[in-house]
Amino acid sequence: MAKIYFYYGAMGSSKTANALMTHFNYQEVGQNALLVKPSIDTRDGVQTVKSRIGLSHEAVLLEDFVNYTEEQIKSYDCIIVDEVQFATPQQVDFLSDIADFMNVPVVCYGLRADFQNKLFPGSERLITICDEIKELKTVCWCGKKATCNARYNENGIVREGSQVMLGANDSYIALCRYHFKKGMLQNPDIEA
Ligand SMILES: [Zn+2]
Repeated sequence: MAKIYFYYGAMGSSKTANALMTHFNYQEVGQNALLVKPSIDTRDGVQTVKSRIGLSHEAVLLEDFVNYTEEQIKSYDCIIVDEVQFATPQQVDFLSDIADFMNVPVVCYGLRADFQNKLFPGSERLITICDEIKELKTVCWCGKKATCNARYNENGIVREGSQVMLGANDSYIALCRYHFKKGMLQNPDIEA
């Protein structure tokens, strides 16, 4: 039976670059992988998966993908989902059905928790049901592993607000838990 995988990490942990490389690895050996992403993430134009280091590829929207026929889905050797934290639990269950009933592996990349350290519903569902889970690591400015996604604006760290805030001027930075709790977005010794 095929498996469903969850690779999670904080902002900047190369999740999208890994998704694109996994896709490339399949294509390189003549296998047919499909890139999918939820439409809620429109930062890069709706149907493109784009990483910070410049790699990009077209993707199918998850909302469209859930309407694919079994025959269409089985024509792929692997389904790769980026930004999976924006998927609903129902969509995650659909993805697991692909592994279980169609024998096509599903590889998901996304954030574990939001800017308040609360699980995204899609990520919670994946953590609960996936076959394999692995952390993609990145570092805080202090050098420790970054596990928290701090939301910030010109006034500093933001603690309140909706889980998904698109089109706002707020930004995100990955911090270790200590500096997240302290609200320290950068090294005070080199602050301008
Ligand atoms: Zn730190």
